[in-house]
Amino acid sequence: MGIAENIQRLRATLPGHVTLVAVSKNRPVSDILEAFQAGQRDFGENKVQELLVKHPQLPSDIRWHLIGHLQTNKVRSMLPLVHLVHSVDSYRLLKEINRESAKMNRVTACLLQFYIASEESKFGFSLDEAVQMLEDSEYRSLRNVSVRGVMGMATFTDNQETVRQEFRELLRIFTFLKEEYFVSSSEFREVSMGMSGDYRLAVEEGSTMVRIGTSIFGERTK
Ligand SMILES: *Cc1c(COP(=O)(O)O)cnc(C)c1O
Repeated sequence: MGIAENIQRLRATLPGHVTLVAVSKNRPVSDILEAFQAGQRDFGENKVQELLVKHPQLPSDIRWHLIGHLQTNKVRSMLPLVHLVHSVDSYRLLKEINRESAKMNRVTACLLQFYIASEESKFGFSLDEAVQMLEDSEYRSLRNVSVRGVMGMATFTDNQETVRQEFRELLRIFTFLKEEYFVSSSEFREVSMGMSGDYRLAVEEGSTMVRIGTSIFGERTK
């Protein structure tokens, strides 16, 4: 099936409140344009360098989501291009995004990435680390970031029950933070979870944003 049909099929299965982020990492600009012409506006990239190359070649009304681990020295170049940073995985990174955003006189929308998988390689806060940050007095002075919710990646496994439990854990974290720290913030409302292999489960467990590459663009060759 083609890219446009894949997008239409996905849209038909996703509830209206769930944002579809088309993950276009390692895909050529021509594939992204095909998705764009099918009405897709939210795209996810995991590398700043790749985003910097693609961005000027594509329509300016694309909303770019940064979904991969971000090094602090890449923050400045990425900020002007990005709609939402999903992968804020440390306090240090959030402070850096705030600092650079202040210089540009902008407020950057961010999600806090949580470590929910049972795999060593995945980045993210633990709940304790996030609470420590949110309780810190300096955190409350960060005026140039807007925390919009949470993001997480489940373990890469065929075991549906494991994946479901991990998504449930992320929703539990979201609900706890909402009640404790963001009760009066209407902006804190996103739960970014679900990829090609597990987005149905993620939606069942309360996802508001799914990040889908393979099911739109086909298998990645690299
Ligand atoms: C690559 C990637 C995705 C999309 O994965 P698919 O299995 O191709 O749908 C989603 N989220 C993150 C963080 C990714 O790096």
